Amino acid sequence: MPLLPIKTYPDPVLRRKCKLAEPGNADIRKLAGEMTATMYAAPGIGLAAPQVGESVRMIVVDIFNHLGEPDPHVILNPELINSYETTAFEEGCLSLPEFMIEIQRPRIVEIKYQNLAGEEIKITAEDLFAVAIQHEMDHLEGRLLLDHASALKRNMYRRRAREMKAQIL
Ligand code: ZN
Repeated sequence: MPLLPIKTYPDPVLRRKCKLAEPGNADIRKLAGEMTATMYAAPGIGLAAPQVGESVRMIVVDIFNHLGEPDPHVILNPELINSYETTAFEEGCLSLPEFMIEIQRPRIVEIKYQNLAGEEIKITAEDLFAVAIQHEMDHLEGRLLLDHASALKRNMYRRRAREMKAQIL
């Protein structure tokens, strides 16, 4: 399975709102496989389609990979149904190298989504799983961790990202 290059800030694709993903579509199925392989290789516990340049509502999440057998959740067109309680996690993002921020989010979320076969699925996710799903769902709206940061921290990172890009070019 070929790996996909991960788009990093300030690539404009990261700011675009995504369109619905079509279950059963061969391209979507192929993209899901490539995204999963890319997530494991990164390594990461979640990846959203815009992070590989595709503006479609699909995310992959596997928070348990380090414990043994891979068990990726391929989630199409997720919708938040309910959320409960609050928790704080230090979050990073493959699209924002060297940026970390503590964010408060609901600790428990109920979501519904479609799988690759088009079946509608409802799950309740807790703790890290819930945080990862919410983080990836933010990507589908063009939202990034930077949007949770203070203006000062955001501007510092913006400058830093430009410098990192300049070193690569
Ligand atoms: Zn991210």
